Amino acid sequence: MSKHMLVLDTCCPQCGSRLTEGTRVVLDAFIRKSHREGEMRLSAIFGDYSMETELEVAEGELVEFRCPRCEASIMMPVTCKLCGAPMASLNITAGGYIEFCTRRGCKGHALGGVGDLDQMMSMMNKLMDTPYD
Ligand SMILES: [Zn+2]
Ligand SMILES: [Zn+2]
Repeated sequence: MSKHMLVLDTCCPQCGSRLTEGTRVVLDAFIRKSHREGEMRLSAIFGDYSMETELEVAEGELVEFRCPRCEASIMMPVTCKLCGAPMASLNITAGGYIEFCTRRGCKGHALGGVGDLDQMMSMMNKLMDTPYD
């Protein structure tokens, strides 16, 4: 294993633009409750659910995510196993996709935080084969 953290190289499922910048995934966010829009930067590190934003998002609030390039919604018709909130999905450049919970503070918010282990392992293997730094 390398000592690097595993950074997920994500891209938009609609337009294919790369959305990972450094260790962050930069997305457009819309807070349904307050009708505020802004940028939200999720951690691209596998299993890390931290994020940064200038928006005011209370714990437990729901956020809708869009691609900042093509403005397509990345919301999925599936719900979080932990809290029942809608999930969003991003493609992984190396292949496959990842889903994450859109509720602030939910552990399912982590990229790769919830998901079936077999699927995660095969994705990890794919990522490990990818020569990037
Ligand atoms: Zn896009
Ligand atoms: Zn959740």
